[in-house]
Amino acid sequence: MHILLMGPPGAGKGTQAANLVKEFAIPHISTGDIFRAAVKEGTELGKQAKACMDAGKLVPDEVTIGIVKERLAKPDCAKGFILDGFPRTVDQADALEKILADLQIKLTSVLNINVPAADLIARAVGRRICKKCGATYHVRFNPSQKDGICDTCGGVLYQRADDSEATMTSRLSVYDAQTKPLVDYYKKAGLYVEVDGRQAIDKVFADVVQCLKD
Ligand code: ADP
Ligand code: AMP
Repeated sequence: MHILLMGPPGAGKGTQAANLVKEFAIPHISTGDIFRAAVKEGTELGKQAKACMDAGKLVPDEVTIGIVKERLAKPDCAKGFILDGFPRTVDQADALEKILADLQIKLTSVLNINVPAADLIARAVGRRICKKCGATYHVRFNPSQKDGICDTCGGVLYQRADDSEATMTSRLSVYDAQTKPLVDYYKKAGLYVEVDGRQAIDKVFADVVQCLKD
């Protein structure tokens, strides 16, 4: 099962990807997670990515495409993957087509989690992530039982530097200008399915699973 999860920042891609990992035991590949790991390690890639992420801009295509190409060639992707946050530009989508053709992989499904722009800032600003295991919470919509502590592993929750209202405004306009055109791109490819992301997390997941079965 080779799944592409699309949707604007804060739509719930990471949340649903975590559920899909549990259900189907395939790797979750998030370019955002890869960049955050590089920032943490302080690598050259991390330094370049941090400047773009802090500004709410995209990391250049030539950098991002190379990383995804390398990651998708790893053996754990042969049985499937959930790609989250890539592609974000038409050039990335064209590159992905070539990468997958070379690997003789066909996408099973392109799922777009649809959430109105008006809801996305509140979702991002309230997002909290576990430092230890990466689990995602929301201070209002999906709170941990103990304030600031992960239910699963007891790790400390943190807020992403780019989850401010100001950076989200920039990320949303980047989404509209550069990523939204991919909706038509994948509609034309005949793989595109839309899920109503305004529903509760478990309802969204039920719809995601249903779409994958259909
Ligand atoms: P993305 O990966 O698309 O940026 P996340 O999965 O990290 O989005 O979700 C963004 C925030 O919204 C998180 O705090 C998450 O807990 C919350 N969230 C995710 N899905 C829903 C939902 N269906 N309803 C309300 N809040 C949600
Ligand atoms: P995300 O975790 O998906 O919200 O991504 C966080 C940030 O990482 C984005 O705002 C971009 O700066 C960068 N990023 C993630 N994925 C990509 C991508 N496919 N292309 C370019 N930049 C990306």
